Amino acid sequence: MLKLKLHWQILIAFILAIIIGIFIPEYSGYFRWMGDLFLRALKMIIVPLVFSSIVSGVANLGGTSSLGRLGVKTIFYYITTSTFAILTGLLLVDFIKPGVGADLGFRMDVPELTSSTGSVGEIILRMIPTNIFEALVSADMLAIIFFAILIGFFIPRVQNEYSEFMIRLFNAIFEVMMKLTSFIIKFAPLGILGIVTGIVADQAADRAKLLSMVQHLGIYMITVLAGLAIHFFITLPLILKFIGKSNPYLHFRAMSLPLITAFSTSSSSATLPLTIEAVENNSGVSNKISSFVLPLGATVNMDGTALYECVAAMFIAQAYGIELGFVQQMIVVFTALLASIGAAGIPMAGLVMMSVVLTAVGLPLEGVGLILAVDRILDMCRTMVNVFSDSCGAVTIAKSEGETLKV
Ligand code: ASP
Repeated sequence: MLKLKLHWQILIAFILAIIIGIFIPEYSGYFRWMGDLFLRALKMIIVPLVFSSIVSGVANLGGTSSLGRLGVKTIFYYITTSTFAILTGLLLVDFIKPGVGADLGFRMDVPELTSSTGSVGEIILRMIPTNIFEALVSADMLAIIFFAILIGFFIPRVQNEYSEFMIRLFNAIFEVMMKLTSFIIKFAPLGILGIVTGIVADQAADRAKLLSMVQHLGIYMITVLAGLAIHFFITLPLILKFIGKSNPYLHFRAMSLPLITAFSTSSSSATLPLTIEAVENNSGVSNKISSFVLPLGATVNMDGTALYECVAAMFIAQAYGIELGFVQQMIVVFTALLASIGAAGIPMAGLVMMSVVLTAVGLPLEGVGLILAVDRILDMCRTMVNVFSDSCGAVTIAKSEGETLKV
């Protein structure tokens, strides 16, 4: 088993998990703990990894001009691809109209929603931590990234003896975190076996509910999934090929482990260590670029989430029989982008951020209850798209900086 390549081990684990989850769900308890351990190990390294990665990434860039250039390229890529994703979703939802005639009796309560009615201003305000230790303790990624960029920016601007020490220190911490990541990755097949067994067993236990969900929300699901598929299989590969001048298929293969992990965990943050590892070792992007682009991307660049926010908001409007005009649809596009930036890289973050979009166009917040039932599966798929887009960004930007890659 150990001699098998990692992606084969993972594929076997995945298939095994589905079989166990469907046929002997009562035994899933014997496997779930492996998934929990794997997830805990990934979460354990996220904060030190993101912090050291961004500080060393920005500090190594040194001069204001290269930082500025990379920063502008990264943000431009993130905003453009997310906007493409949203527009794809908007076209599909306007064309398919999954919400027209949807059954409103199928609504569920969403307790998280009332506590998190975030506005656009709050997203921006939250970026600046009042207490960096509090931000580190609560894994508040936007705040951590903001502080790390500032630290990285000022390191090269102090006396040489201090700046050299700081750069070596943060490079060293980052190297150790990456070594630890490689160690954790060895357990990925067992982790995925545990996670996927749990998910499949839970769903299979409730087959009747699953069926009625598909009846009520099938077309909505298909609309979201079709949009995600177009972005994943067409838009991003085209960007990779024509702007990134790389081979999309090779990059896709290089990313197989992070993609399957994103799908299983529904968390870009938890997947981040694996994303960095794959983009550097398999696709050949330099550490200088990946350590800046990827942690930032895992938090702010969520193409799949952006697309989903837009389709879900339009679906809710259609279900309530509310016509949204052109201007209102543009507000949906803009707030979907902001909501995806503000969403944390954790499961169901996108669902909770729906409040931003719904509030902006005056749609009822309870509408989220309509789509709750199928959120799990959509979350898995949109997280995969989120992670893939980050990695395509790293490749495209590395190529534009003149790097020679393996893809
Ligand atoms: N789960 C997604 C992620 O981690 C965020 C979302 O809920 O859309 O990327």
